[in-house]
Parts: sequence; C-alpha cells; structure tokens
Amino acid sequence: MKIICIGRNYAAHAAELGNARPDQPIVFLKPGTAILPNNKPFFYPEFSSDIHYEVEVVVKIAKNGRHVEPEFARNYVDSIGLGLDLTARDLQQRCKEEGHPWEIAKGFDDSAPLSADFLSPDAFSDLNDIEFSLEKNGTEVQHGHSRNMIFPITELICYVSQYFRLQKGDLLFTGTPEGVGALAQGDELVGYLFSAEGKREMFRTRVK
Ligand code: ZN
Repeated sequence: MKIICIGRNYAAHAAELGNARPDQPIVFLKPGTAILPNNKPFFYPEFSSDIHYEVEVVVKIAKNGRHVEPEFARNYVDSIGLGLDLTARDLQQRCKEEGHPWEIAKGFDDSAPLSADFLSPDAFSDLNDIEFSLEKNGTEVQHGHSRNMIFPITELICYVSQYFRLQKGDLLFTGTPEGVGALAQGDELVGYLFSAEGKREMFRTRVK
C-alpha cells in the first residue's frame, strides 16, 4: 500500500502559499507509517515548530492498474474518505530553499490522520461534487469542494498511474483548499464530509 499525495491542487491554496498554479499535478508520496488511524492523538514532533494542517479528500483505489485511460478512471475509485496532510512547514521551506526532496516535511510518522470510514462514491452526485470542511477548536478553518480542484480526481488517477502502478487499497490524497494554518498542542481538529445524507464527522484528531 502506498499513499500518493497531490500538492497545490486548488488555485486559492497555491496562491496563499505564494506558489504558481501548476500546469501538471505535483505528486509526492508518504509511507504507510504516516497513517494515524481511528482518531488517535497526534503528538507534536520535536523536529518542527510549524506543523500545518491540510484537510483533503482521500480516494481509496479499487484495483490494480497502470496507464489508466480517462474513460476507465472512475472504475479505480473504491471509496471516499477524508484525511489530513500534516506538513512541517519549516522543514519544507528549508528543503525547498536547498532544492532537496521534502519527504521529511511531509511523510513523517503520523502525518496522515485518516478517517476510519470511507463512503461509497454513490453518496455524492459525482466525484466533482464532494464538499468537505475542517474545524479547529470548534471554528471552521477550511471548507472545500472537489469542483474547485485544478486537476479532478479522474485526471489525477490517469496522471499518477503513468508513473506509479496503482494497487488495490492505495490512498490518493487529492490536495487541500485554502485556509491551511499552524497547529498547537491542545488543538482539536474535526473533519467533515457533506454527503447526500448531510454533514458527517469523519475524523477527530487531538494534538498532544
Ligand atoms: Zn496536501
């Protein structure tokens, strides 16, 4: 199992970090050890003093495949969950300045809190109609909609499968909308997906 992540997939988020709108998806990986399941607490690591939250729609991949053609991409979507792409922004900045890979800033232990439940894609009218939000300490800090993705989910599946063979159970983090910000010990983050049945809590992560 692997975790494939997309950077800067919402124009407003790219802009808030001073980045240009990409003309191809920006792809990076997290190891499986990054997953923080079942609402377990996140322990603030010693190596950073600027951990940011990024709430993201997560696609669980349904089956193995490579070089997926657009007309078949939808078949690779097993289910839809919600996660956090926790980012050590200070380490990431240093890596970028030095021209180094940014894995330590993105793939560290527990950097991917993940919902226990994944919803059928049928819970949404279509893959471009997934609404989601994040509350920090009871206040909404991010609110996103998959129609605002620069590269929609099916395009991401085609693109990444040119480079990485997809395997059943892989997770695709699809990028974060605007509103990212710093975490502090004591914070509580709650992520929501809005399906046909209404607003649904998907994860609740406490920072210790
Ligand atoms: Zn992200």
